[in-house]
Amino acid sequence: MIIAIDGPAASGKGTMAKRLAAHYGLRHLDTGVIYRAVAHALLTAGIDLKDEARAAEVAMTLDPTTFDNPAFRSHEVGSAASVVSALPKVREALLAFQRQFASQPPGAVLDGRDIGTVICPDAQVKIYVVADPKIRAHRRTLEARSRGEPADEAAILADILARDERDQNRAVAPLKQAADAYLLDNSHLDIESGVRAAIDIVEAVRAGRQRV
Ligand code: C5P
Repeated sequence: MIIAIDGPAASGKGTMAKRLAAHYGLRHLDTGVIYRAVAHALLTAGIDLKDEARAAEVAMTLDPTTFDNPAFRSHEVGSAASVVSALPKVREALLAFQRQFASQPPGAVLDGRDIGTVICPDAQVKIYVVADPKIRAHRRTLEARSRGEPADEAAILADILARDERDQNRAVAPLKQAADAYLLDNSHLDIESGVRAAIDIVEAVRAGRQRV
């Protein structure tokens, strides 16, 4: 079974995807980290984020064993990832890796922006997670402070809105709900209720389609 979880930044989809994978014994891929890894490599090397040829080269030589690098999680790298991810050659370079990951048994939960629309259009279950931008900014602020980092909620909200705008309006693989994706509004759900709602969607799809 392949489960596609898409949605904007900080919507809570990351935790949902991880928990769904654990629940169903599926492999899990946070595809955002791939774009973050490319952005981080460019920032570190001082290469212009819009240098498509260099960015695509970096994307072709990514090492998945570095994906848990905590430096990838920063706000700066997230915003840079959103710039880099709009480059068609970067997306193209990362496509095969993601499809290959999804195709290995017993299946996978892929968490991203274009999983249900581009990477795995045939995924058995597609969930599109949204949440009010102000609530997303508030959650991000609390997370940053819990890690002991200073966080300016207004700046985080501005960053989230700019990122949504960029992700939704890019020419290649823009962030959007697939026609056959279930919409899950996570604004007023705590983590447990959100995960439960996602499992309910998967179960409803499986009940309706014997082969899933
Ligand atoms: O989800 P995360 O915040 O880690 O993603 C960072 C950026 O990477 C997103 O804002 C988006 O621009 C890009 N991304 C993407 N396609 C994906 C996953 C992430 O374009 N499948």
